[in-house]
Amino acid sequence: MKAIIFDIRSFSVHDGPGIRTTFFFKACPLRCVWCHNPEGFHPGIQKVAGTHKMGQSSVPCIKQVGEIITLNQAISKAEADRVFYEVSGGGITLSGGEPLMQADFVIALLEAAHQLDIHTAVDTSGYAPESEFQEVMTKTDLVLFDLKIMEDAQHKKFTGKSNRLILENFKWLMRQKTEVIIRIPLIDDITDTPQNLEAIRTLLIHTGAIQRIDLLPYHQTACNKYSRLGLTYKLKQMPNYSVEKQQQIKTFFNDLAPMVTIGA
Ligand code: SF4
Repeated sequence: MKAIIFDIRSFSVHDGPGIRTTFFFKACPLRCVWCHNPEGFHPGIQKVAGTHKMGQSSVPCIKQVGEIITLNQAISKAEADRVFYEVSGGGITLSGGEPLMQADFVIALLEAAHQLDIHTAVDTSGYAPESEFQEVMTKTDLVLFDLKIMEDAQHKKFTGKSNRLILENFKWLMRQKTEVIIRIPLIDDITDTPQNLEAIRTLLIHTGAIQRIDLLPYHQTACNKYSRLGLTYKLKQMPNYSVEKQQQIKTFFNDLAPMVTIGA
């Protein structure tokens, strides 16, 4: 069995508990204007213009974005990093793009990891057919679920899709026993409007016990990725998210979960 990924990151500490190996799957049905991982948009392997260093100069070359990985290769990678999971309480995280776009592989990888007693997390936008979503969610130890924009027209405007399916899947997930970390991107005047933050707060109050909320402030690091891929980055001029506002929003959500963090 095979999948197409665009990166594997060892020693990740922002994608769930402990030290983790994060697999970034290609393909995403959304197009969030702030996305930090545009390599994950396209489902296939891409060739893009780039440069490499030759002595003191940079010379043009063609670079590949994406690679095929087999199930055995993915498991071998996880096993190689296992010692770090054991000392830190870590494991593997399946991210993207949207990992549920390659649901069969994701399910097989989660099952294989559990046979080896490796902790698993899935980082999802929640935009996936109900049946696939539910199957994956019941096979992972932890879900990192993104809540972006509550008002449907605004969600469509800034991500390209309606949020109805996402919210249905979220409500179903919150009725299950699976551990969930809520992730909220903080983007000036898009996700951080008082109305949107209040609507997220109301949703969370009504969905029961939340163990952890991660706030993910906008930063400019993705700009170069867009130009390398030949894509236009609409938020190119947006400054990094204000530290002061991060703290205010953390305070706004603090009473909803035992742990509210400001992520990278
Ligand atoms: S859902 Fe995630 S990976 Fe997909 S476009 Fe949005 S931010 Fe990027």
